[in-house]
Amino acid sequence: MKKTSKIVIVGAGPIGCYLGQLLKQNGLDPLLLEEHAEVGKPVQCAGIVGSDVFEKIRQPLSKKSIQNTIDGAKISYNGSSFTLNRPRVAYIIDREIFDKELSRNLNIEYSTALQEVHSIKDGYLLKTNNGEYYADLVIGADGPNSRVRKGLGFSSDMKLYRGYQYRVKMTPRRQNFVDVNYVKPFSWFTWMIPEGNGMARIGTISNNPFQELNSFMKRLDITGEIVEKNAGAIPIGTCQLVKNHAALVGDAACQIKPITSGGIFYGLKSAEILADAIKEGDLAQYQIKWAAEFEQEIKVCLLIRYIMENMGEDVLKRIFTYVKDNVKLIEKIGDFENHSSVLWSLILNPRTYPTIGALIMGMIKNPGFIFRSIFRAPR
Ligand SMILES: Cc1cc2nc3c(=O)[nH]c(=O)nc-3n(C[C@H](O)[C@H](O)[C@H](O)COP(=O)(O)OP(=O)(O)OC[C@H]3O[C@@H](n4cnc5c(N)ncnc54)[C@H](O)[C@@H]3O)c2cc1C
Repeated sequence: MKKTSKIVIVGAGPIGCYLGQLLKQNGLDPLLLEEHAEVGKPVQCAGIVGSDVFEKIRQPLSKKSIQNTIDGAKISYNGSSFTLNRPRVAYIIDREIFDKELSRNLNIEYSTALQEVHSIKDGYLLKTNNGEYYADLVIGADGPNSRVRKGLGFSSDMKLYRGYQYRVKMTPRRQNFVDVNYVKPFSWFTWMIPEGNGMARIGTISNNPFQELNSFMKRLDITGEIVEKNAGAIPIGTCQLVKNHAALVGDAACQIKPITSGGIFYGLKSAEILADAIKEGDLAQYQIKWAAEFEQEIKVCLLIRYIMENMGEDVLKRIFTYVKDNVKLIEKIGDFENHSSVLWSLILNPRTYPTIGALIMGMIKNPGFIFRSIFRAPR
């Protein structure tokens, strides 16, 4: 055996590192295994986070990574658009710096990729390209394709979506607004994010991201030099969080907002719940407390996503027009991290009823879909 550690965290992404910092603060010294030679590379993220990431986190995060401040968004679908104004609602971060800041002073074993994990008597044996490790407690913070999740047989109901992004030399017209263009609300969309330094991140999550991104660039006649290309997977769905003395956190555990595919805030908050459970020596509390905090929000948003994915274009257009007409309400109640609050406010507004009627009619045209929406745990 190469090394023994009471706690091994597989993956030194932002969530594994934040968990590492919280455990360190609690007097524990976890060992992190990271397959890459350094933290933060390759970047697989658009780097837009709600201001809560810096304001509602237990352990203050370094602000060195903040590149730009966002005051709203232009949302488009099918030739129609509207603008949401919300001063200082979000930041654009440099993910490499963000991750590196989080990794400071942690005990990380680099260039060490987990290949297999086995449950053995009173612990776990982790086989890597860099030898074998033993842990009493193992945490999978190893991203969307988590080997810990697969190797230890955590149950999950998820779908992996594909994201692709270019960093382009250009100065978008509005330096503090992001552009979101829905291809199919809310699962496929394209974005343009100003870094505020003469660069923009232009990317997409869609069925065929490479093609979608290139045709988006063409449509907008974007000819600036592409200086970087990023690609990654986004896990949308639900996942078991605890199994014996092992747990998952972050993308490995599908802790992603189903409507915008943002994972940093949920992952960081989930790491706090996990750190508390480890401190208390009762891992099962992680699953229970996490469900109390996030399960309903994620399930409602998964259901919205599922319904939108299965709606015809005529109904989607009608919903979009309704949202556009109620943009002031959304500006007032919208929450960057909690999306279902907008849904409930719209549902409770009598002006919504014709749109809800159209939605129900759209569903009635497809009875199989109604059945699946009601009886199937949405993904
Ligand atoms: C194109 C795209 C755009 C996105 N944009 C945003 C955004 O704007 N805002 C937002 O909040 N979220 C965004 N996300 C999601 C966000 O990037 C993730 O939610 C976040 O990175 C999750 O962090 P994590 O630490 O759980 O996983 P990761 O960041 O994936 O980190 C996992 C770490 O584990 C390591 N690892 C993996 N397998 C192994 C192994 N076998 N052995 C050892 N180490 C391993 C990896 O190298 C990595 O360092 C985006 C995702 C994509 C793909």
